[in-house]
Amino acid sequence: MTARILVVDDVLANVKLLEARLSAEYFDVRTASDGIEALNLCARGSFDVVLCDVMMPGMDGFEVCRRLKAAPATAHIPVVLITALDGTADRVRGLEAGADDFLTKPVDELALVARVRSLVRFKHVVDELRRQVATSATIGLPSSGKDAPLVDEGGRGRVLLVEDRQVSAERLAKTLSESHTVDLEAVADDALFRAATGGYDLVVLSSTLKDYDSLRVCSQLRSLERTRDLPILLLAEGEDRARIVRGLDLGVNDYLLRPVDRNELMARVRSQLRRKRYADRLREIMQASLQMAVTDPLTGLHNRRYLESHLGELIDAAADGDKPLSLMILDIDHFKSVNDTFGHDVGDEVLRGFAERVRTAIRGVDVFCRLGGEEFIIVMPDTSLDTAGRVAERIRQTVGGTDFPIDKGARQIAVTVSIGLAERRNGREAEAMLKRADRALYRSKAAGRNRVSADAA
Ligand code: GH3
Ligand code: MG
Ligand code: MG
Repeated sequence: MTARILVVDDVLANVKLLEARLSAEYFDVRTASDGIEALNLCARGSFDVVLCDVMMPGMDGFEVCRRLKAAPATAHIPVVLITALDGTADRVRGLEAGADDFLTKPVDELALVARVRSLVRFKHVVDELRRQVATSATIGLPSSGKDAPLVDEGGRGRVLLVEDRQVSAERLAKTLSESHTVDLEAVADDALFRAATGGYDLVVLSSTLKDYDSLRVCSQLRSLERTRDLPILLLAEGEDRARIVRGLDLGVNDYLLRPVDRNELMARVRSQLRRKRYADRLREIMQASLQMAVTDPLTGLHNRRYLESHLGELIDAAADGDKPLSLMILDIDHFKSVNDTFGHDVGDEVLRGFAERVRTAIRGVDVFCRLGGEEFIIVMPDTSLDTAGRVAERIRQTVGGTDFPIDKGARQIAVTVSIGLAERRNGREAEAMLKRADRALYRSKAAGRNRVSADAA
């Protein structure tokens, strides 16, 4: 994991020391000796983490941090402030300035590497997500609140505390519960299960479980799909540096030394939660815009784009399993006259009602899409032409059998639908199936509408 780090300190010896330590970890290190130089470098180059001394003549570290966080081009770069004093006042000021983490002088080597690595990993995840969101915008996927600020409201997190020493567990749970919802688990195997299923935001893990190697818990959490992105905060003993290093290699996000300092615990938990929420939010934005791209806004059904990217897969899966697959194309009869007589809004109301009615007549595994206008398609895996014919007939009756309420139920209109069916033959081609269903639909229309026709083999 290589990354570009900017070290900012007015004392040359400090810069050199940090530079040497980080270079030894194969980070690409640049340095600056004051705040202005740091801001200039950040504006031009892309850094993954900025390490910044707090006490500098001219512009201090808080101000550097504040300015980096205020500029859109640099706001996402994690900043670690290096404080001379261990005072909480500095930390509070640093947090207000938007700092992502803190180190105190003299800088502990393990803490330095741990915090930088963790932030680099976070930055890489966020960069990738930001790239995806930016790409989705340039290829014209609909935006879904992409422009909304990614602020963290700092709400309660769901924390899984894995600790088998009862006294310690109770004390930690009591502290964490002041700001978060905490579940306590003493058994490692159960902890893994709960972490995978419990919807947690963070695992706080004791490094010294009696009957289980806690580092194994870390590696299992990292290898499971569902917990791969779940942050882990390791509670370690001071003499346990080698294990902390192994833990960090395995993907532990941060650690704390016992005896646990209350403020430090709360601060580290909070910053892990903040990072997770930020990444989650980016993922949600991405998901939502992908979802919107394949959804028809009027009916909430899948759209033609969705069908085009999935029909081939469904047909291939049926062919691979030697299973039948049928599809039907549905077209509302004389829909133009609904619009002409009652207006476009009533037409929309009918389309929504039609989609809703049909949806209740099919299975969950059937893929129901609006192809456009008043034309729909249903793909039915594992369904023979005979069965599909019965389903189509049921749909025809469901639609035509009862009038559609319009104007919020004030009036009713009769709606009928014509349907064309086709079944998968030996080939795998989607195009040919659609054509055959279309021809069958044409026959339904030609024969007087409000009827079902199947592709004649
Ligand atoms: P047929 O029985 O032959 O299918 O006749 P039809 O009138 O249903 O078919 P035609 O293709 O001539 O007309 C379809 C109409 O559907 C024309 C168009 O204005 C209307 N339409 C297409 N999309 C929408 C929509 O989103 N909302 C509404 N209200 N109308 C739509
Ligand atoms: Mg029509
Ligand atoms: Mg039509």
